[in-house]
Amino acid sequence: MSEQSYAKPLPLMRGSTKEFYDHCKNGELRFQRCTDCGKWRHVPREMCAKCGSWNWEWARSSGRGEVFTWTVVQRAMHPAFPGDVPYAPAIIQMQEGVRLVSWVADCPPEELKMGMPVEVIFERVTDEVTLPKFKRAAKR
Ligand SMILES: [Zn+2]
Repeated sequence: MSEQSYAKPLPLMRGSTKEFYDHCKNGELRFQRCTDCGKWRHVPREMCAKCGSWNWEWARSSGRGEVFTWTVVQRAMHPAFPGDVPYAPAIIQMQEGVRLVSWVADCPPEELKMGMPVEVIFERVTDEVTLPKFKRAAKR
């Protein structure tokens, strides 16, 4: 998909946010992990909220998680989304313990369930940005 045809909001590609999306572009979901206490975190930030350390690495996620919660949007509040309603932004609880806001791409809102197992997929929306989304997965 070309830059011009993708009309939805894009992340600000700078700092650790850019690094997060650069990993997605390479087909890897990575989150920050404290190299002192091992705590995973997301969204990207410089300091560990558990131990106060400034030391961290980009650790690769299993890509697996489950639906924690979601909301169903019936009326788009942004001009780029009316063609998608109803849609369901979902919070995904990853196996590593972090949560991220995403989308279960292969699941209509009425079929979402709390605890539904999902795994990451990547959707390249521009030359620079690849978004992590999810699809249904078998229970493990
Ligand atoms: Zn820590």
